[in-house]
Amino acid sequence: MSTLAHCQELDSKDTLRPLKDQFSLPPGVIYLDGNSLGVLPRATAARVAEVVTQEWGVGLIRSWNTAGWFAMPQKAGNKIAKLIGANAGEVVATDTTSINLYKVLSAALNIAAADAPTRKLIVSERSNFPTDLYIAEALCQERGYTLKLLEPDEIAAALTADVAILMLTHVNYRTGSMHDMAAVTQAAHTAGILTVWDLAHSAGAVPVDVTAAEADFAIGCGYKYLNGGPGAPAFVWVNPKHAERFWQPLAGWWGHATPFAFTPDYRPAPGVNRYLCGTQPIINMAALDCGLDVFMTAEALGGMAALRTKSLALTDLFIALVEERCAGFGIGLATPMTHEQRGSQVCLTREHGAGLDGSSGAFAIVQALIARGVIGDYRAGDGKVHQDIMRFGFTPLYIGFEDVWHAVEHLRQVLLSEAWQRPEFNQKHAVT
Ligand SMILES: *Cc1c(COP(=O)(O)O)cnc(C)c1O
Repeated sequence: MSTLAHCQELDSKDTLRPLKDQFSLPPGVIYLDGNSLGVLPRATAARVAEVVTQEWGVGLIRSWNTAGWFAMPQKAGNKIAKLIGANAGEVVATDTTSINLYKVLSAALNIAAADAPTRKLIVSERSNFPTDLYIAEALCQERGYTLKLLEPDEIAAALTADVAILMLTHVNYRTGSMHDMAAVTQAAHTAGILTVWDLAHSAGAVPVDVTAAEADFAIGCGYKYLNGGPGAPAFVWVNPKHAERFWQPLAGWWGHATPFAFTPDYRPAPGVNRYLCGTQPIINMAALDCGLDVFMTAEALGGMAALRTKSLALTDLFIALVEERCAGFGIGLATPMTHEQRGSQVCLTREHGAGLDGSSGAFAIVQALIARGVIGDYRAGDGKVHQDIMRFGFTPLYIGFEDVWHAVEHLRQVLLSEAWQRPEFNQKHAVT
């Protein structure tokens, strides 16, 4: 049985606690949505102001050289590389996750078409993040491939001789369940299949080692656990053995070997640099860099391994407290209990019909929690296989054990008081 005092004691022993001071969190908020939009690092506002007023305002076009603007995708990329087990020079920060997926999936299809032209399937998970499925669907139409969608437990048996690419998100955005990247990649390779990994919910959240896993392509998001700000540049990693085999399809001038030679013909830059397309959003890039710098200071405190230990302790505590204190309200758990299969978020379900008008009530419960300053989010189910989800992300950089206690206490109060039934909490907005 956990107590508030026990949680406070855990906080007092937490060696990562000083990292919280690097973030600017509004008072009275317990922020459990860092898996969707990370928190503002304290350094960001001043740095962005400097980029705007000095580097842009005064330096003007000279800043491409003098302020290092031109090299920012590689500079940020090298910091991200450390978080995902890549080497320096193998990652660039650029564009969005969706766009980067289009680039790497196209390149993977080029390789597959050259090496294994009879393979015509891309396999993915039905509950993968929709944009990944949409991009794959568009490429399948363009190239004459078929997208095959499966449940996670069906994937191993589906790695057959007609599959070209296995495209998975490492940590599922709905359930928080995590694939064994090394084992899945090995099984795919044994079957002659290339792997494309989406690390949107992994980079900065769980230890990742794309090199050890011998993955083929990876992409990920800058505005979630990396705290790069809304619309922050995403990133791309390509296994060096594939990086120069083909052009990526968005062969813009930033991916040219000599962009300022202004030649009429395209010559791709070496390595992952060819995965750049056009001019980068420098202000956003500077903000992303501030988010990444927090991870660089976290290295001295044990880095991703220490963050992972704390993340699991936080999610374990949350699950235990919900089970203890919120029993009898139809709340279930969609996130695996096994540590090896869990990302840095916990997803709760609610029985269908337990809410108003036959709904699960999950949406309204999340709204009632937000009104109390506990910010999580809601993801609708399909009414069949996938249930409605209440999602709570635990970012060990700035979430403490006492926060977990209070979050569960608020959930308990919302359920006990039935406050979630109020009309204002049952009103849907554009962004959930
Ligand atoms: C958040 C997320 C994205 C977001 O894509 P954008 O292009 O940045 O909007 C893509 N894929 C996954 C798996 C995600 O979790």
